[in-house]
Amino acid sequence: MTRRADSAAGALVCALLVSCLVAACSVVPQMSPGSNASPSLTAASGVPGRTLAGDIPTVDQRTESDSASIAIAEALSARAAAVLSGNEAAFLATVDRSRPASLSDARRMWKRIAVVPWAQWRYEIVDSGSASDSTEMRLITVVLHDRIEGVDSADSLAQESLQMVATNAGWKVRNESSVHAELPWEAGDLSIARAGEVVALGVGDVPQDELEEVAARERAAMSDVTALLGRRQVTGGPLVVVPEDTEMMARLLDRPESALQQVAAVTTTSAAENQSGADRVWLSRSVFDAQPPLGRMIVLRHESTHVVLRSASTSSTPLWLEEGIAEFVGYHGSGVRLSTAAADLFTDVNNGNLPSALPTSDDFDGANPHLARDYHAAWTLCLWLADRLGVDGLVAFYDQVASGPATDSEKNVDAALRSLSLSRSTLVQRWRTALSNWATEGQMHA
Ligand SMILES: [Zn+2]
Repeated sequence: MTRRADSAAGALVCALLVSCLVAACSVVPQMSPGSNASPSLTAASGVPGRTLAGDIPTVDQRTESDSASIAIAEALSARAAAVLSGNEAAFLATVDRSRPASLSDARRMWKRIAVVPWAQWRYEIVDSGSASDSTEMRLITVVLHDRIEGVDSADSLAQESLQMVATNAGWKVRNESSVHAELPWEAGDLSIARAGEVVALGVGDVPQDELEEVAARERAAMSDVTALLGRRQVTGGPLVVVPEDTEMMARLLDRPESALQQVAAVTTTSAAENQSGADRVWLSRSVFDAQPPLGRMIVLRHESTHVVLRSASTSSTPLWLEEGIAEFVGYHGSGVRLSTAAADLFTDVNNGNLPSALPTSDDFDGANPHLARDYHAAWTLCLWLADRLGVDGLVAFYDQVASGPATDSEKNVDAALRSLSLSRSTLVQRWRTALSNWATEGQMHA
């Protein structure tokens, strides 16, 4: 599908309808660090100019030194300190109490965020309003930096709008709300389950035993993936977010609900280019919960592969390789028959419709009616590479592509193929031959 901010941070939307064993994914950008740089958050290197999450504004130099702005900054520092110290009274002391709705909103926000062990909570003011605005009220824009203890190695960022009012007791918060994607504590009550370094966060009405199971499954998936890829998990996480339904998930990801109908899971990060960070795996219960245990394992291994390979924060690798290797790891050793898992692809092959080129970025768009087939094309490319090179060789090939410049992922592929004495056309030719052979054999297992 599509993806990526220009400097960092993407998200992977993955649909795995394992009951019929087909798969699909796409990518959505998240905010990236260095908010003063005002990155343009575009969907993908392959889909230029498609802004999904909005820009992060730069600091407003006009007003940051006026006295009201300084007082507002101090009020927000006190509010952040209250969150980090778990001091509800101090948090509520930052609220405009002249308006009952403000106080009830703040109590509800506190009840929700207090569930999470925050290692960071900071308001970076990027527009403190104009001094010519009302002297009693200002609408300011901030970037909220938050980080979860033991899970995140970088801040998760969200743009917010805060309505501040001047009172006899100083500047107070009348309202705090997100500007783009809804934040979990805006969407519903929060609940947490932990399994080792993995934390599952329920948003809204999600049973605790379901969260516990998700955390345990994700921990097992991370263990499988790191073992197979020969990687060590150097940071905590990921955080697995479980919204109560697809409509809520769409609001949390700032995506149309229609784009998530087949989606089992989405991976996002706030990491800098090619780094780990605030990694999030979002589960769509309507799809994920319908899967048998084997299907859930494959979905979570797929997403965990994106997390471990940092595919949401790199632009050096093409989508076919990202999704192909995630599918390869997801199904590896599962015993699922290839012709069953990729039935749509092999139907085409059996009808003589062999793919003539590597999948393109556009092939991974959620609107592609042949999305699952193209995912399986990417998967079988990685299967062929692994047959020829071994799993270690496939990972080394991936690493070589990922080590190239972010400007042209396909050139990085060509360079990595040359080191194997392969051309792109030879790869396609041998892949087509392998597909024909696999179709004939019919019994190959993933
Ligand atoms: Zn994926």
